[in-house]
Amino acid sequence: MSIRALPMRKVRITDAFWSSRQRLMTDVTIPYMERILRDEVPGAEKSHAISNFRMAAGEESGEFYGMVFQDSDVAKWLEAAAYSLALGDDPALSARVDDVVALIGRAQQADGYLNTYFTVKEPENRFKNLLECHELYCAGHMIEAGVALYEAAGKRELLDICIRLADHIADRFMLEEGIPGHQEIELALMRLYRVTGCRRYLDMAMRFLDLRGQDPNWFAKHTPPHPGVHYGGYDIDPKDTVYNQSDVPVREQTTARGHAVRQVYMLAAMADAAHATGDERLRHACERMFDAITQRQMYVTGAIGSNAHHESFTSDYDLPPDRCYGETCAAVAMAFFAKNMLALDADGRYADLLELEIYNAALAGMQMDGKRFFYVNPLEVDPAVAGKAPGYEHVLTERPQWHSCACCPPNLARLIASLGGYLWSEDGNTVYSHLLIGSKAAAGPAEISVKSAYPWEGRAEYVIQRSSVPFELAIHIPSHAENAVLQKNGKHAQIRMEKGYAYLHVQDGDKIKISFDMLPRRVYTDARVADTAGKTALARGPLLYCFEGIDNPGGLKASKLPEDAEVHVLDYDEKLLGGIVPMEAAGLFAIPYYAWSNRGKNEMRVFMNES
Ligand SMILES: [Zn+2]
Repeated sequence: MSIRALPMRKVRITDAFWSSRQRLMTDVTIPYMERILRDEVPGAEKSHAISNFRMAAGEESGEFYGMVFQDSDVAKWLEAAAYSLALGDDPALSARVDDVVALIGRAQQADGYLNTYFTVKEPENRFKNLLECHELYCAGHMIEAGVALYEAAGKRELLDICIRLADHIADRFMLEEGIPGHQEIELALMRLYRVTGCRRYLDMAMRFLDLRGQDPNWFAKHTPPHPGVHYGGYDIDPKDTVYNQSDVPVREQTTARGHAVRQVYMLAAMADAAHATGDERLRHACERMFDAITQRQMYVTGAIGSNAHHESFTSDYDLPPDRCYGETCAAVAMAFFAKNMLALDADGRYADLLELEIYNAALAGMQMDGKRFFYVNPLEVDPAVAGKAPGYEHVLTERPQWHSCACCPPNLARLIASLGGYLWSEDGNTVYSHLLIGSKAAAGPAEISVKSAYPWEGRAEYVIQRSSVPFELAIHIPSHAENAVLQKNGKHAQIRMEKGYAYLHVQDGDKIKISFDMLPRRVYTDARVADTAGKTALARGPLLYCFEGIDNPGGLKASKLPEDAEVHVLDYDEKLLGGIVPMEAAGLFAIPYYAWSNRGKNEMRVFMNES
């Protein structure tokens, strides 16, 4: 089986929920980020990221400023801009992208090396401290941007820059040993391999994966002392091998540990590499880790990495709602992982996870105006302690304008802007629809248009057009769907259910209607999650709900949601929070979790005491 995702250029998202958010990306967020990178937003945290490239190119004098991985902000913005260009013509943006890419080209060294921190500040220390210095991480993001600009926007220049960069890295690390301190380049090299067909990049990705954990003391042995220098603003203990998952070979890892983004970026790479090579042990490790995370280490929102210390996974079932870290990037990474798992196996569990992440943990990272972002995504906020009390320093009641460590905003922007690439896959004669998002797609032998009332109602219609041959359509039925009915051309459809997908034979002109109940449901955590024992949350369809103080002036701390309290689904309110379906239970008013913190400082809770 060789399932491949349909590239976003073959898909246009048409549904109201997501197309409006994609427009927010193209019209507001991506231009706003560019102004941040150019230090043009008054009052926002200084970025200096473009200036760093100018200095590396010898076109500006001054000092490098920012995190050691500041370059990755430019790379992620370029990747998001690439998808923006694919979503609609924007000659001005296209010209500015070309300018930035040309600048990056001038900042690249003659041997292919590309990193502004080391070029400007410590040219003698290139690749000496892989643990902390993020050179391979930044290279990975740049490679992803290069691939995206080529695939989505037809621009070749950054891809060529990145090929020189990747060759420089492979020239070195195919011979000498090296392990990326922050995994990222592995998944990027896989993408570069996919687009170029050049086996060397696959080999390099595999070598980085293979070396990791072979010698648990590798970083301790290979990290030079650097007294007084704090790369990236913090010191990583080379002996903390759990932090970056370097204590156990990747194929033997059984549970998620350490820094969540590092862990899941690596899993996304492992899944893609397992697909490319047929490496069964790698694939089994991915499946094991997927189960470990989704069954024992993930919040009901899809957030992962519960602990603020090291932005990390901790032990199983340690999921406090109020001290939750749940980095936005980690939720985005889970979407990458789910997408790559779907290429290994059309299993609805992966599509369910993808759905959970995009509608909840990831989406909550963004303000409705597209300009403010959460890094941390708690499931409970008390303004009296948030940001202040020990243990709650990381928890904020409102999204800040920008972060000195700006990893999350562009990560979310690239996910939303490229969401079309997550909807469909193909495999021989079968076309898979993973998400019930309205779109038009050139999939398999046909053009398929989907109209969907999601996420507010469980209704969608697929119309097959311009198909010369019959084919098989596999539609993912979300696991929460109740009483699902499929009709083909007005009649009960003959289907085969397998792993959460409804398979049916279709041909030109067919109309497939799917409908199911989206009754409000109570969500409980495993009894071993001590913090939420005896508590319940509300969900409907793909959306998890929360309660905010502004809607519930009596306060939330003493509020209860008794077991027998009926949950009412209220009418769609187009004026509230960009248009939502609120719910009401026991006198409490609930809104979708993703929409919280859009109305000022506020108490918020996902879980309520049931008795
Ligand atoms: Zn982040």
